Formats: sequence, structure tokens, C-alpha cells
Amino acid sequence: MTDSDRRGDIGADPGSADTVPTFRAPAPEDQSQKDHLPPPPKPAAFKGFTHSACEYYPCHPGVRRAFNCLFCYCPLIERECPGPYQLFTDARGTPRKDCSACRLPHDGIAPSWTFIQRWLHAPAFGGQPQSRARIRALSQALRPPVSE
Ligand code: SF4
Repeated sequence: MTDSDRRGDIGADPGSADTVPTFRAPAPEDQSQKDHLPPPPKPAAFKGFTHSACEYYPCHPGVRRAFNCLFCYCPLIERECPGPYQLFTDARGTPRKDCSACRLPHDGIAPSWTFIQRWLHAPAFGGQPQSRARIRALSQALRPPVSE
């Protein structure tokens, strides 16, 4: 096997007058061919993780996809959101969300990441009870403009 063979060169065969490029596939055992290739794409690890050793895991029942623990404290607590929260009033008389029934920040690593990024643009929480009409209106407002 020649050096050219090992590199799997594409080019004219030096021993031939023919100028048509020839390709010699690398031998299967030749690791040097793989060394210069870019690494295969990896999942975006920054989008979340599953902390299955946590004593509270899984803290929200009903999550079907990979459990994302990154948003253990939901960043949307002070924003309007589409979650199924219940409203309660704290000791100071401030309306608060009870998010016990919500799975949105946990259901799937990439889906929950995307969900949070989108709703971080929502307005501040106004203390209103949750309703389908509010979710629809907010979702519409957060939709990116259609490009022409
Ligand atoms: S209802 Fe869900 S999405 Fe909304 S703040 Fe609570 S946990 Fe976050």
C-alpha cells in the first residue's frame, strides 16, 4: 500500500496518462483517515440534564420524555406562561402561582429548553388566573413575525 493509498487521495493516477481523477478508498483498518474528520454532532448539553440521583426525582409525575432538571426553578414564575398553574395569595396578599401540576419545563431536554426560551419574552405575570383565552392571546403575541 502506498502513502497515497493510505490518504485515500483523489487525483490523477501518476502511472497513467489518463487525466480522469481516480479515487482509492482507504483500507478499513486505516485510522488516519478518520483523524481529520470533524467530530459527529453532539446533543446540545447546555439545554439540560437529568439528575436521576436527586432525592426528589422525578419531582413532577407524568413527564414522558427525558426529564430536564435544568429548570428546577422555573424561570417563568415571574412571567406570563401557558402552564396549568393554580392561583393563590401569599401572606402579603400577592397573587402567586402554584405550579405543582405543570410539566412544561421538564418534559424533554430540547423541547423544554425551546419552550422556556420562547416564553422568556412574555410580559411580567399579572396575577390573573390561567385560562385558554389568555394562553391563546399570549402565544399569538409571541409568535415570530412572518417573513416575506
Ligand atoms: S405554570 Fe409551569 S411554565 Fe408556568 S411558571 Fe409554573 S412551572 Fe413555569
